[in-house]
Parts: sequence; C-alpha cells; structure tokens
Amino acid sequence: MSLLDVKSFAAGEWISPDDNARLIENAVTGALMGRAGNDALDVQAMLDHARDVGGPALRKMTFHDRARMLKALAAHLGQHKQALYDLSFATGATQADHLIDIDGGIGTMFVFASKGRREMPDAHVYLDGEVEQLSRGGTFLGQHIATPLQGVAVHINAFNFPVWGMLEKLAPTMLAGVPAIVKPATATSYVTELAVKIMLDSGILPAGAVQLVSGGLGDMLERLTCQDVVSFTGSAETAFKLRSAPHILRNSIRFVAEQDSLNASILGPDAVPGTPEFDLFVKEVQREMTTKAGQKCTAIRRILVPHAQIDATIDALRTRLGQTVIGDPKAEATRMGALVNTSQKRDVLEKAAIIGEEAERVFGDPERFEVHNADGDAGAFLPPMLFHCADPDAASRVHDTEAFGPVSTIMGYRDLDHAIALVNRGEGSLVASVITHDSDVAREVAMGAGAFHGRLYFNNRDSMGESTGHGSPLPHMVHGGPGRAGGGEEMGGVRGVMHYMQRTAIQGSPDILTALGKKWVPNATEQVTETHPFTRSFHDLHIGETIHTDPRVITLEDIEHFAAFTGDTFYAHMDDAAAKRNPFFPGRVAHGYLLLSFAAGMFVEPSEGPVLANTGLDNLRFMKPVEAGDSIKVRLTVKHKTPRNEEYGEVRWHVTLTNQEGELVAEYELLTMNAYQA
Ligand code: NAP
Repeated sequence: MSLLDVKSFAAGEWISPDDNARLIENAVTGALMGRAGNDALDVQAMLDHARDVGGPALRKMTFHDRARMLKALAAHLGQHKQALYDLSFATGATQADHLIDIDGGIGTMFVFASKGRREMPDAHVYLDGEVEQLSRGGTFLGQHIATPLQGVAVHINAFNFPVWGMLEKLAPTMLAGVPAIVKPATATSYVTELAVKIMLDSGILPAGAVQLVSGGLGDMLERLTCQDVVSFTGSAETAFKLRSAPHILRNSIRFVAEQDSLNASILGPDAVPGTPEFDLFVKEVQREMTTKAGQKCTAIRRILVPHAQIDATIDALRTRLGQTVIGDPKAEATRMGALVNTSQKRDVLEKAAIIGEEAERVFGDPERFEVHNADGDAGAFLPPMLFHCADPDAASRVHDTEAFGPVSTIMGYRDLDHAIALVNRGEGSLVASVITHDSDVAREVAMGAGAFHGRLYFNNRDSMGESTGHGSPLPHMVHGGPGRAGGGEEMGGVRGVMHYMQRTAIQGSPDILTALGKKWVPNATEQVTETHPFTRSFHDLHIGETIHTDPRVITLEDIEHFAAFTGDTFYAHMDDAAAKRNPFFPGRVAHGYLLLSFAAGMFVEPSEGPVLANTGLDNLRFMKPVEAGDSIKVRLTVKHKTPRNEEYGEVRWHVTLTNQEGELVAEYELLTMNAYQA
C-alpha cells in the first residue's frame, strides 16, 4: 500500500517528504500509513516569508478585520469538517473525540473572533488598562499599550489534538496580528495538514500568515529573535530541552509551555453515595479516563476520595468502566478507540508499571480485554486501567508519573486539608476539580490549592446540566498551569492574545495619548465644531469633539417637583436640618438623578437624527452636592467610537457637570448608538 505523503507548506509552496521522512502508523491497524518531513526544508526562507510578507499584511488589518477573518475561517472549516472527521479515525479517535478536537477547535476560533470584535478596538493599538495620572496638573499621563510582535510565532503541538491544538494557538496569534508556523506532532500531522490545506484553499488568509512544518523543524529555533514566540505543547521533557537551548535563553525568546500534568479530581466530603454529586463524580472520572483513550493533557490522573468512600467509588467506577466498549473508532457502539500508535501504547504500559509499584490495579487488564471490530493485537488498544494507592503519603510515583492513556489512580484522604495536600503533590497542574455541593469546601480548596493549579473546576447538582466537563479548556478561560504543567497560560480571551503582542508603557501629553489610543483622554485639546454632534453620523464624529452648554440654575421648586414626581423624597432633598446632620451635605440638595436629567435636556439635539438610542451610562460619580440657587453646565466630548454592525456603532461620550465655581459636580460616560448615515 502506498504511503500518505504529509507535506509542509513553506514560503508559499507545498513540499513533499524526502527519503529521511518520519513514518506514521495507523492507530487502529498498526500498519504504516504515511510519512512526513524533509531535511532540505528551507527554514530561513519560511521565517523570512512570515516576517516580510505575512506579518506586514496582518499588521495592516485592525483587530476587527482580523476577528472577521477568524470568523470566516472558522465558518469555512465548519463546512469541511466531514473530511477532517473521516481522516481522524486513523488516529484512533471516535466521533465523540472528533467533536472535541475538530468542532472544539472551530468553536474556539469563533469565540476569539467574537471577543476580538467586542473587547478589542477597530484599530491597531490595544489599550491595556486605564490612563494613569502621572502629574498633578494632568498634562503628563501614562497608558499601557500593546502592539503585535513583528516576528513569527512557532507553534509546536502535541499529537493528541491535531486540529484543536493548532486552532487554539492560531486564533489568538492571528488576532494579535502575528504570522504563524505550525509544527504538529508527526504522529497525527496528516490531520493538521488537511486542516491547513482547507484554510489556505479558502483564500481568506493573507500570504505568509500560516505555514506548516510536517516532520522536523530543522534548526528553525536557532534562528529566532526577540520578536518571535515559541508556543509549545507536549511533554515536560521536550519542553525542557527546547526552552533551555542557549539561543532561546540568550535572546529572551518568549517560550509559552503547556506540558503534561498530574491533574486530580476530589470527591467532596459531602458527596456521599446516594447524592447527585457522587454519581456525577463517577461519571466525570469515567469520561476523563476514556475520552481520547485518556490522551488528554487535562485528564484526571489522580482520584481523591474520602477514606470512607473508597470502596463504594471503586465499585461504581468498575461498573461504569466495564460498560466502556473498546474497538474500531468508526463503529457507533465504540466508546473508546485506540491510542495514537503502538509506541504510545508501550509508553503507557511502562508508566502504568511504574504506578503499579505503589498501587494495586483494581480494574482493567491490558493482557485480557475485549476489542470490538478491530484487531486488538495489531492496533494500539488498551483497556481503561484503575489503580488504588493505599498509602498516598508515602507514595511518590503516583504523583509524578503521567501515563498518557486511560490510566488513573484512586487514593483516600482523611480530611479536606489532607485532600488539599495530596492534590498539590502534582507540583503544578492544568486543572483540579472538586465535586461538592458545599460552598465552604469549594472555598477552602480554592484557598489551599488555587496557587498550584491553572484552573479549578467545581461541579454539583446545580451546575451539572450545563457544565462543560473537567477536561475541557475553554477559550474564555486560561489554559495552562504552574510548575510541572509548564508555567504557561494560553487562551483566557484577550489574555491569550497578549502573548503575541508587546506591552509598552507610554508616557506623554494628553494629545499624544489620545492620538495613540484613538480614545480621548482628559485635558487633551478639545475640538469645537459648528454643528451639534448629534446631527452628524457615526463616521463624521471626531474623537475629542466637544460641546459646552449654557448654565442652568437649580431652584428649590425643581427639587420639590422632582421629589413629588418621582417619589424620591429622601430626607437630604426635603429636610434641611436632617440634611445638615449628614456629613455629606451642607443642607437640602438636588437629587443626582435630577442633575443627570437636566444635563440630558441641556445637551440634547431633539430632532430625529443619527443618534438612535441612549444605551447606558458608565462610571457615574457625583462629586459635589448642588443646592438650590447653584447653577450647572455640561461639557460633552466624544471619547471613543466602536462600530457594532452594518448600520450603527457605539459612541462613548465623556460628560462632566460643573457648578458656577467651575467645580466638578458629576462625571460619567454616556453611551449612544449612532447611525452610519446621518
Ligand atoms: P512530545 O513528544 O513532547 O512532542 C511534542 C511536540 O514537540 C511534537 O510536535 C514533537 O514533534 C515536537 N518535538 C519533539 N522534539 C522536538 C525537537 N527536538 N525540536 C522541535 N520539536 C520537537 O509530546 P507528545 O507525545 O506529542 O504529546 C504528549 C504529551 O503532551 C503529554 O505529556 C501531554 O500531557 C502533553 N500535552 C499537554 C497539553 C497541554 O495543553 N498542556 C496538551 C496536549 C498534550 P514530533 O512529533 O515530530 O517529534
């Protein structure tokens, strides 16, 4: 049978493997099925192509342009996912596994596309945090900004999620405006190759934005600079080797690592048999052990249960694991497919043997188990294997040996402090879960174990209907963990995009900060226009454009009328003596909401026009009380504009109310939706 040639995509060309290519095995049959890699790959040309062609094209686009590009790519991949499913069965994955890898990857891209539009500006500079006041007079200010790195992101991925593993890195990288070179693990590189081909064929990506290395990277990492990033997912051993290379260290090249991890799940002391939590726990553990045949970086490797519940939990797990149909991943009845290849199977058996030195196997015999519709001897099949460690305090290997397959160890704990101590013995993990209906238990675990884990997942009867599972990293939340887990963080919304940008502290005048951030900052030059800004369309409004109203005197009748009309007869507005006793007020004062209402009446342009609606107020503060006889005037400035859809965008106005002494009475941001057409 001829072998599948898994190509690389380098500097605009597809490059076939050469005679030294690495060989790829079919997980289900054990037969050789493909080859990948070419020693003659010109890695310098790839880096140059990314830096000189892909990077500039991506950086020309705004965050919103790139978000729209991601959305279109995700939709395009969605239309071609059947081809990806069909190919992925050879990796040993079932259809349920494909949903995590392929649909999960596409979903991740959609979330980044949406966050890019909502949380990032339609501009080239991302503002990180608020303006910092660095001088008394407000003429010298600070602002952190982020701009895309001008190099390339090299993504080195693990074999277990050939699509999700690529897309969860690609989405934030491209949103940042940085080109990527993707290097999938050879074992499943053919699936990644197809996904890359689908993306490139769509014509959505600018040239040089995405390249692919199937097989070895050659000396690419030796040629990186401070503008490049390596994002690695894989074993702790490979991560250590790559990140400690002198060239990487000497040049402070960013290295984000997602490594293996001894994740744990705790059965809460309250979750005794008979509670919904106990059943939920058993279900989650079984699912984590068998999904992707346990080849998940987030899978539950250690199961922590109160001593009293050990026997009941083992019994329940035996029953559930015993129902797991193992076999041909294409067959509908199959619940667990094969490991990725026979070398991975050997590795898992070796690690299981190490765990077996400290724990007794209580379920799953790798020598005797049933495989349906496939050759169990030739393919990389294993049964789920559950170990019981009777003395987890004395043990060490159960806390540090990752068998990257359907292997997990159950151990008992005495009390919650003991559970926390044990869960932290993983020395840093991607995720720990706690199944409990007791919020105090959750709080105690968060305080005791939070620092050791990138994610804490709590679940119980209230959330189980909608919860996403212990093992699912979500694009909104950070994925990564301290210590053994690599010390990295991916995703987490915009946080993940920041890995591909440089944060720069900008110091300067209000005008300079306004120009850089396209967001008006206080004390910047005002632009006064002839016409009222409410008469002009979204695109005709300028940042910094300002109107000042005439003053209006507030009378006692106004205050009484407002009190009677709204029913707000709070004593500070009605009773002079009582108001005087209050440390905030000199006597009877106007309602804050009366002032806001007057302000609206003072700055409004009443005719039908491009302002469609007032959609809210942000950051409202009342600074100084207003008494009858005082006067107020309003200043309204265009602070920021954000396109929302094809018809209109949001305008954020900075509004201040001042009294007859020029003192600030109130300050807020007004939000309106403004039409693109006047
Ligand atoms: P691996 O053997 O460490 O390989 C990871 C990646 O590194 C592969 O693409 C591999 O390519 C590449 N690689 C290996 N040596 C290299 C070198 N000298 N230069 C450049 N690249 C090199 O890990 P794996 O077996 O694929 O994945 C399993 C491990 O990944 C498990 O330990 C699992 O826990 C971890 N994992 C972690 C996460 C996470 O998010 N934290 C997710 C998934 C998996 P080749 O395949 O071509 O050798």
